[in-house]
Amino acid sequence: MTIQFSNDMAEVTATRHYLHENPEIGLSEFNTSDYVAEKLLALGYEVTRGLAKTGIVATLRHGTSTRSVGIRADFDALPILEETGAPYASKTPGVMHACGHDGHTAMLLGAAKIIAERRNFDGVLHLIFQPAEENFGGAKLMMDDGLFDKFPCDAVFALHNDPGVPFGQFALREGPIMAAVDECKITVDGRGGHGAEPQDTLDPIVCGASIIMALQTIISRNIHPIDPSVITVGAFHAGMASNVIPERAEMVLSIRSFDPKVRDQLENRIRTIAEGQAASYGMGVTIDYQRGYNATINHKAETDFLRDLATRFAGADKVFDMARPTMGSEDFAYMLEERPGSYFFLGTARTDNDPPLHHPRFDFNDDILPIGTTFWVELAEKWLEAK
Ligand SMILES: [Zn+2]
Ligand SMILES: [Zn+2]
Repeated sequence: MTIQFSNDMAEVTATRHYLHENPEIGLSEFNTSDYVAEKLLALGYEVTRGLAKTGIVATLRHGTSTRSVGIRADFDALPILEETGAPYASKTPGVMHACGHDGHTAMLLGAAKIIAERRNFDGVLHLIFQPAEENFGGAKLMMDDGLFDKFPCDAVFALHNDPGVPFGQFALREGPIMAAVDECKITVDGRGGHGAEPQDTLDPIVCGASIIMALQTIISRNIHPIDPSVITVGAFHAGMASNVIPERAEMVLSIRSFDPKVRDQLENRIRTIAEGQAASYGMGVTIDYQRGYNATINHKAETDFLRDLATRFAGADKVFDMARPTMGSEDFAYMLEERPGSYFFLGTARTDNDPPLHHPRFDFNDDILPIGTTFWVELAEKWLEAK
């Protein structure tokens, strides 16, 4: 590829650092959206704004073919207090690019520039800059605002950086790659009182503890051993003092699965166990069960295309098919329900023990910027190759 490599990469790195310094939470990425849109307009793209509030689609047409492809980058940050100590650390305390979406956006902008300069394709390219991957399902919101009606894509692709995968490796997977996620809040309604007189109370802590232990039997005793699923009680709040029995206990669960039938089964069992355990203690529960993102399922033909391309791009030793999906979740799932496509991980490990995604010391590995950027250029040009 004949590109002004060092010049282009200095700009991509500067973009990444600017985005990192100026993080914004999902659906309020107003400055980020302005910044990205201005760059794309300057490169000659048709820029459509306002899908899912801050989302952007940048379109470039060349030649006569109606073939089209969409490449997506997310650009929202997380509510985390940064501890990287980087010179370009977040200027907004408590908001941080701790998932590397700054890097995803910088790479796609870098590719946008090279693709526009080269114009080495025949067809329609849609670059999708998406808000709110972390919280509100920006992918789905963009689709609700007509993403694929207004910008038909023959296929869609996206990547995520992964500090747990060796540097420069492409981790692909046909079929399920990420899990569906649901969240459940269970509130046990007891009757508070003096810690010395438990007989006059209904202790929600004891009941809550029983519910948590009983929940452990769902995966081990109810779900088929071959169906991957997780129930994590991530929070349990009750009480303030040793001599006070509180009025209520609250727990918050994260539930992961792949098969929609298993997903229903998990919800039913959680409800039955929470209600049944509470009833056995003479207490009631309130259950607020929220369905989150669906499972991310890659399509075969597009994953094959990705594997071929990555193998030619990086070498066979840098490309592998994941033996198992991950239990994390991703709203690109919704795009893959409407359009064929594939989502993959790009390894960015610096050491054997990098801070993971969502960690206050996580910092996107800039060394991957040239690889991710040029790979998107290759993908766009190959998918839209002149026939
Ligand atoms: Zn994340
Ligand atoms: Zn992410």
